Amino acid sequence: MELAKLARRRATDDVYDSLRQAILSGVFGPGDRLQIPEIAEKLGVSPTPIRHAVQKLATEGLVEVHPRSGTYVATLAVHDIEETFDIRCALECLAAETAVRHITEQELERLHELLAGLRQESVDEEGLRRHERLNSELHATVVRASGNRRLREIHESLKANIQIARVHVVEGYRGGRFDMEQAEHAEIVAALEARDAGRLQCALRNHILRAKASLIHTLAEVSTQHA
Ligand SMILES: [Zn+2]
Repeated sequence: MELAKLARRRATDDVYDSLRQAILSGVFGPGDRLQIPEIAEKLGVSPTPIRHAVQKLATEGLVEVHPRSGTYVATLAVHDIEETFDIRCALECLAAETAVRHITEQELERLHELLAGLRQESVDEEGLRRHERLNSELHATVVRASGNRRLREIHESLKANIQIARVHVVEGYRGGRFDMEQAEHAEIVAALEARDAGRLQCALRNHILRAKASLIHTLAEVSTQHA
């Protein structure tokens, strides 16, 4: 009995990881219908772990379950992006207050490595994915340096939403915006190094609100192209 339970839980976790990855990397696009029997067959598991994994993804906001018509990859409206980025901005500015005191030399060194990595990005699909990983590690480092574990968890929970928004706009994201982003990231790191909380908050606010506007703008362009 115990072993059967364990195996079942493991299958759910594996299915969850694999579906989550497929959604965040764009294998399943926003609004796509998830065919549970077909996925079960492909992954070589029964439909039960798939249903459990789908429930977990629904709590995270990555899929929407409509009891009569099926399960779909979540789509994000402009107001979802606005809400998410506004909360993220408030959280990172809150983190800034204590991060300037707690940030270690080692973390600052890592931030410089991340800046260097972000500078070298190419705009093909793999390059964009790597860029997103480095960007998200940079912000996570600032939040972690706050020393506030709950703040870190809440910040982390917004990540899936932001990633799915980027999946929408991966096409329109190409070109021209990295230079501005690079300068903003450099200012964030410089403010941390100067241990200046006010300057850091200002840098974070500029960067996050500009990223929000740019994502919404690109999303609008992408939907006009598709219309
Ligand atoms: Zn950033």
